[in-house]
Amino acid sequence: MDRKERMQDKKRIVVKIGSSSLTHAETGELNLEKLERLVRVLTDWSNQGKDVVLVSSGAIAVGRTTMKIPGRPKEKSVKQACAAIGQTRLMMVYQRLFAEYNKVPAQILMTKLTMVNDENRHNARATFGELLKMGVIPIVNENDTVVTDEIEFGDNDTLSAIVAALIQADLLILLSDIDGLYTDDPRTSPDAVLVPEVEYITEELEAMAKGAGSDVGTGGMSTKISAAKIANDAGTDMVIANGDRIEDLRRILAGEQIGTMFCAHKNENFHMIDYLTKRS
Ligand code: GLU
Repeated sequence: MDRKERMQDKKRIVVKIGSSSLTHAETGELNLEKLERLVRVLTDWSNQGKDVVLVSSGAIAVGRTTMKIPGRPKEKSVKQACAAIGQTRLMMVYQRLFAEYNKVPAQILMTKLTMVNDENRHNARATFGELLKMGVIPIVNENDTVVTDEIEFGDNDTLSAIVAALIQADLLILLSDIDGLYTDDPRTSPDAVLVPEVEYITEELEAMAKGAGSDVGTGGMSTKISAAKIANDAGTDMVIANGDRIEDLRRILAGEQIGTMFCAHKNENFHMIDYLTKRS
């Protein structure tokens, strides 16, 4: 099936944006122009009748810039304090940007427990369903302030795939600081080429993904491959694209060959809990 055909009926879409894509590298401050463009595209999709969910990182990054803490904090309590400070600021900015277009966002913070506990999971699913029915755009992040090592997703690539699986999304787009999956690390190897499409995730492919990452967020290429496994098994197509080009979101949905596409192949034995317990 070609991309155009694959993309034409996408109704429920999850977009994940990483910390390095929503902040300026030089200062760590929010890239408002980019966020504005992101909010505009998401609102427009929602106005077309699509169900749209945004998974946004940035709580810790925004918190630490607010408190002028240099570098990514190592101490857990400092990280958690930064997340508490940054999350509300981040939401305030989203709130204002969405208000420009009369769109209502909502905040959903979760931990692994939300997924592992049956009742929590059902409640979370029902809440997403209700919000989407209302035409609201849920903005999701990990509840970094209360999370402990045992119940931590740790990166929003995994979280966004879990969310996509939970709400049975048709498409997950990971906006990253790289164009997609390369055959080698493109920053060090001039021969590296972009892989446009991945039908199945093989061991060889997983090996290829090792090593590529950034120091602002927590998700390198390996976490993106794990995310693709979850999403694909749950029946969701996943695309990795470069967060520097927000306009690519529209082009992806129009079926253009952008980034790397990981093709869904619904696994009837898919159990979200297996993925969550495997990593802890
Ligand atoms: N939840 C973290 C935050 O909002 C980010 C995790 C990640 O970088 O993937 O700061």
